[in-house]
Formats: sequence, structure tokens, C-alpha cells
Amino acid sequence: MVQGGEEVQLEKGAKAKLYTRYPISSVILYNGSTIIHFLLGGFGIALGYSFSSWAGYTFGSIYLVFSFVEMYAIMPLSVCPHCIYYRLKDSLCISGMNILSRKIAREGDLKDFPNRAKGLFCPNNLYLVSLIVPILAMIPALIINFSIVLLLIFLAGVSLLLFRFFFIFPKVACLHCISKYNCPQAEAMGVRNL
Ligand code: SF4
Repeated sequence: MVQGGEEVQLEKGAKAKLYTRYPISSVILYNGSTIIHFLLGGFGIALGYSFSSWAGYTFGSIYLVFSFVEMYAIMPLSVCPHCIYYRLKDSLCISGMNILSRKIAREGDLKDFPNRAKGLFCPNNLYLVSLIVPILAMIPALIINFSIVLLLIFLAGVSLLLFRFFFIFPKVACLHCISKYNCPQAEAMGVRNL
């Protein structure tokens, strides 16, 4: 079973190292790319719709509040309490949210962890919305209010999204996660038995 310490190799034929404490570099990469994605998204929306005296700032601000609240409040309040990292002493998950969650939320039930992907407005779907919405919102803005800066922000957002889905999730985060046997996202990424 899971032991404390930096990394463990365990159960169900897993070949990848499983971390009870992710390396700090992985936590920084995960949160850094997340925060840059959100900031670029908010700025891109504001810039893309800046031809309106109110739409750009309003929608850019709404997006920023939504994305940060979803990631750094809804997740630690509603998902992390059901995660194994929440209850493991000295653990550090890929987002570091297990530490915040222990401070602001009561311990949940491991059985409820897969609920993160159930229902239209589940935390997983809100998370995906926070990543994809700015990219979709910038497409019409590029058509009606084109600028090189907006195009670069759009391309950076698309690159960050692809980087997340094809590198961070499968190679840095989910592959090494001790929650992967209980997490629908790990199943979707196909890393459960790696
Ligand atoms: S498997 Fe991936 S999405 Fe699921 S808890 Fe672990 S790091 Fe997070």
C-alpha cells in the first residue's frame, strides 16, 4: 500500500513512479501553466472585445474570476476532500490543493472522488470550460477585431491547452498520481495501468 515519502512504486502492476509528494518542479509547472493560461485568456478576451466600451473588460473579468474560483476554491472545497492526498500525512498533490483543502474543507469520502466527473456542471466540466472558453471566445474576436497581439495570445492559449493535454496530464500529473485508480480523468487519459 501507499507509504509516506517522496515516491512509491505500487500495486496493480504500475510501472510509473507514484508520488505521495510530487516534485516541486512539477507543482510549479502545473500551477504556472494554469495561471498563465487563465491570465492570457482573460487578457485575450478583454483585448479581443475592446472595440466595445464595456464588453471586453466585463467578459475578461468574469472569465478571470470564474477560472480562478473554479480552480482554487471549488476544487479544494468539493473535490480534494474526497481525494487520497487529502488524508495522507505530508503529501503534496500535483496542484498542491490538498494542502489548501485540509485548511478550508472537512474530510470527505474516497468513494465520492469519481463524482468530480458526474453531471453537466461537475467540477471536471467547469475546469474544462475554464480552459477552453477563452480560446473559443477569441476566434470571433480575431475575425472582427484582428491584431497581431491577439493572434499571439490565441496561439499561446492553444499551445498551453495542447501542452496540458498531451504532456502535463499524461506525463507529469496523472501518470504519477496515487489517485489514478480512483480518478475518471486518469482513466480518460489511459494512464491507469502505466
Ligand atoms: S489522476 Fe490526474 S486528474 Fe486525477 S487526481 Fe490525479 S492528477 Fe488529478
